[in-house]
Amino acid sequence: VAAAHPDAETLRGLIRDIPDFPKPGILFRDITPLLQDRDGLKMAVRAVADPFRNEPLDYVLGIESRGFVLGTPVAMELGVGLVLVRKPGKLPHQTIQASYELEYGTDTLEMHADSIGAGHRVLVVDDLIATGGTARATVELARKAGAEVMACAFLMELTALNGRQRLDVERIHAVIDY
Ligand code: AMP
Repeated sequence: VAAAHPDAETLRGLIRDIPDFPKPGILFRDITPLLQDRDGLKMAVRAVADPFRNEPLDYVLGIESRGFVLGTPVAMELGVGLVLVRKPGKLPHQTIQASYELEYGTDTLEMHADSIGAGHRVLVVDDLIATGGTARATVELARKAGAEVMACAFLMELTALNGRQRLDVERIHAVIDY
């Protein structure tokens, strides 16, 4: 287990807990106070990017929507480009898809079919890992395209849900544990 990031507790203090959102029983971890704090925003981006600074990476894969917000500056911080992983019907060109299970039914994520391929090393970024279904589908997309998933990086992890066990990825980085 990696040591806690030195800024983890400062960042935790900028995240707001909203009970019963978007539905009863869910404790929503709201990062909007963190995003609007100029120091917190910078700190969060750096904390997510830190372990990968000397790593050979080609792209960050950002997962809609909060994975775009964090993934874009993380990609800039690491000096690589950004690939969008989106909900169905949003990307204009030909796509590949991966589906994952929700509590009721399934959901699908898409990526442009020509965006990444064999020989590309990617980092998957989202704000939070809960059950791991969203990140798992994204890893599947990257591998379908022939790319190598170097790691997954999150600002927050809900450890009780064991999402990291569902990800068949060696390196999983999360700044703040709940
Ligand atoms: P999962 O696929 O279960 O790992 O869920 C992760 C996705 O759902 C991420 O894109 C999160 O933004 C969102 N999410 C799940 N649970 C929460 C939560 N308690 N607070 C905020 N976002 C959440």
